[in-house]
Amino acid sequence: VIKLDNVTKTYGRGGFFSKQERMAVLKGVSLSLRAGECLGLVGRSGSGKSTLGRIMLGLEAPDAGNVRILGQDVTGCKTLSPKLRRAVQVVFQDAIGSTNPRMTAGEIIAEPLRNFDRLKGQKLKDRIAELLECVGLSPDDANKLPGRFSGGQLQRICIARALAPEPRVIVLDEAVSSLDMLIQARILDLLDSLRHKLGTAYLFVTHDLRLVRRFCDHAFIMSDGTLHAFDPKKMTSLNGVRALEELSQAILP
Ligand code: ATP
Ligand code: MG
Repeated sequence: VIKLDNVTKTYGRGGFFSKQERMAVLKGVSLSLRAGECLGLVGRSGSGKSTLGRIMLGLEAPDAGNVRILGQDVTGCKTLSPKLRRAVQVVFQDAIGSTNPRMTAGEIIAEPLRNFDRLKGQKLKDRIAELLECVGLSPDDANKLPGRFSGGQLQRICIARALAPEPRVIVLDEAVSSLDMLIQARILDLLDSLRHKLGTAYLFVTHDLRLVRRFCDHAFIMSDGTLHAFDPKKMTSLNGVRALEELSQAILP
């Protein structure tokens, strides 16, 4: 459903930055995400994981290379067609920054339902209540503003919003590892059932290797602007730092 070919991205272009300050974040990254597949993406903070996620979703343009969503080349596109916008959803790392503080939870979730499914009235209300329940919140929460939720609750509203249009792909940028264990298990079960029922594909951007081992078919570590594949089922250490070191030693040149 998404295919990247030899994507490069450098920040700090233009006169303002000196040559040393220009930073190649992605140096020729190729990746494909197929229907029903679950990819894990790990790597040090600042290694370019979120950047890659934004480029995959057509939210940011690469400097070179090619991005295809559902077979369509979106590399040079400023905005995606409604069909593609519906197909690819994201839950950002920063739940507060990615929700409008003046919209209630219900309005936030209603937006894709109105835009893509033209739902209104009772049907809209029912679907919002159903989605809130899916992420462990109550229908009454629909009337609350983002400021009245905890960080994890707001994160769950963002997950509900991403699920609302029944997308083909969801990029979860550090979106589930901050949730409590019970809620996390429940949401992972839900994602897994959607993957079997609808063929939804996921990219988990995360520092949580346990999650990668349990849930992902394939995994990559981002380092020095390139992706290195590893088998998530063969990780020995799951202790964050140790595991990352071990992975780096085993995989990186
Ligand atoms: P984390 O695990 O902390 O979320 P990350 O792997 O997601 O890190 P990115 O957010 O992709 O890292 O950032 C990669 C690098 O690109 C960082 O050094 C960051 O400073 C830089 N960067 C990201 N976005 C921009 C931007 N819009 N302008 C300039 N530099 C940027
Ligand atoms: Mg990030």
